[in-house]
Amino acid sequence: MKFVSTRGAGSSADLRTAVLGGLAPDGGLYLPEQVPLLPESFFARPGGASLGETAVAVLHPYLEELAEPDLKGLVNDVFSFDIPLVRLGSDVRVLELFHGPTLAFKDVGARFLARLVSRCLRDADDRSTVLVATSGDTGSAVARAFLGVPRTRVVVLYPEGQVSPVQQKQFTTLGDNVRALAVAGTFDDCQRLVKEAFADDELRRTVRPISANSINIGRLLPQIVYYFHAVAQLPAGEPPVLFATPSGNFGNLCAGLIAKRMGLPVSGFVAATNVNDVVPVYLETGEFRPRSSRRTISSAMDVGDPSNFDRIRFLYGDDRTAIRRDLTGRRYDDDETRTAIREVRSRYGYTLDPHTAVGYLGLRAVMETHGDVTGVVLATAHPAKFRDEVEPEIGESVELPARLAECLEREDRSTRMAPELAALRIVLTETA
Ligand SMILES: *Cc1c(COP(=O)(O)O)cnc(C)c1O
Repeated sequence: MKFVSTRGAGSSADLRTAVLGGLAPDGGLYLPEQVPLLPESFFARPGGASLGETAVAVLHPYLEELAEPDLKGLVNDVFSFDIPLVRLGSDVRVLELFHGPTLAFKDVGARFLARLVSRCLRDADDRSTVLVATSGDTGSAVARAFLGVPRTRVVVLYPEGQVSPVQQKQFTTLGDNVRALAVAGTFDDCQRLVKEAFADDELRRTVRPISANSINIGRLLPQIVYYFHAVAQLPAGEPPVLFATPSGNFGNLCAGLIAKRMGLPVSGFVAATNVNDVVPVYLETGEFRPRSSRRTISSAMDVGDPSNFDRIRFLYGDDRTAIRRDLTGRRYDDDETRTAIREVRSRYGYTLDPHTAVGYLGLRAVMETHGDVTGVVLATAHPAKFRDEVEPEIGESVELPARLAECLEREDRSTRMAPELAALRIVLTETA
């Protein structure tokens, strides 16, 4: 499979170029040249396919370069934790994507990317710097995924003081080939710096940065898998699924829309955001107006300029009417999010993290207008990662899983940095 740029210029790239390049040379984002339909036989399996079988079937067309045993090995390595579909009452299910090493859905994309990169760096003298901006979850997932991967190092940029302590400790304490930079600015500043570093000819030549943000196609592809896995876990004869995806940069949702294009039977999707609602506003009015992000309790979705939305527009030929047939936007503020956490807890005894709570609200609202559907909300983080927000609502403590508790004890090794490319250049070159 070849990959093309959302800006449409230049020739197509192979997998290695797309993964190591991050952005296309024209500044666009890579997408597969074609989105293949899965064969009918895939959907006809009695009892549904296992997660591993689903992953191989979904990813094979995109990774033809890999021999079948290699693909199977990679998939088993990445999808080594469960992604269960949990029932809440009669009509809603929660797809728990948070059973990986850092308890967030980003583990899926990051682990897949790390293994792809190590396969792409097959020449002994190849080495690369993974450069990533994070508002929390990305940094921990990417740092953990690449930790100790030979001939790579990870540089994580995060907005100082704006990442929850539990999250921060997950990438600032690792050491080894992981470096954490506390940027005096916002997440958007971090993202801009990463973009500037990638656009800088000298850094590209000397440092060879790889992007591990959700612009990298290597993170997007494995996320298609779990939409299929959700449907495979439903009993036969259920009404079609309406998915609600708590969204920030819109990579996760984009993967769902690709799943639909591959033949996944769905009723539709809900783009659920916090008050950083550029996409819901676009769906409503046709105006796409990126702006500075605002802080919320669902901080991993505090994105003012959602980069993956370009992919969605490209997939639909920039036709808003067509996008709206598949996608409904909803936005919620922090008070509504807190109320949802309380209500779901008292109604079902289930604890939502703030991101999943935004998705849940969007799901409930759109289900009312969508007839007979099975509602599935993607649970993007474990509530323990956001216990400062969650505990006051549910009135008790959320138990911290051992792997999180452990890293809270370790020393923070991050370095402070001004939000300027010159400062980043020094860090990148002094240690290259
Ligand atoms: C990153 C993240 C999101 C947003 O995902 P996108 O693919 O950027 O839309 C939602 N919830 C959590 C917990 C996240 O870490």
